[in-house]
Amino acid sequence: MSSCVFCRIIAQEIPANVVHETDDIIVIKDIAPKAPLHYLVIPKAHTTSILDLADHEAALAGKMFLAARDVAKKKNIQSFRLVVNTGTESGQSVFHTHLHFLAGKLTQDF
Ligand code: 5GP
Ligand code: ZN
Repeated sequence: MSSCVFCRIIAQEIPANVVHETDDIIVIKDIAPKAPLHYLVIPKAHTTSILDLADHEAALAGKMFLAARDVAKKKNIQSFRLVVNTGTESGQSVFHTHLHFLAGKLTQDF
């Protein structure tokens, strides 16, 4: 989707700091980190939120968690938090499904 910032990052139209990539998933540093380590785990296929995921995307949903696992192992991170904002009231601002991967000293209020 040309108007979607994450699709544009995936298409390399906008630069991003990529920390991990597979055929289906890209993991980038968040441009405005809310924790000492803040990554975004982003499926390459565009869906707007987890409400938009189809049953046949169950494997893709699982791959988001496996990508988070692989980033944690690669960077030797033992403790982290995964957050999925869904809908405007939750704080979602980019309407392309993604996990926030937060690590370091975390506050409870993200
Ligand atoms: P949301 O608010 O939708 O849960 O999360 C969107 C996240 O994307 C925010 O934490 C925001 O800082 C991040 N973000 C927005 N635009 C960009 C961008 O152009 N590059 C990167 N790396 N992160 C972005
Ligand atoms: Zn998108």
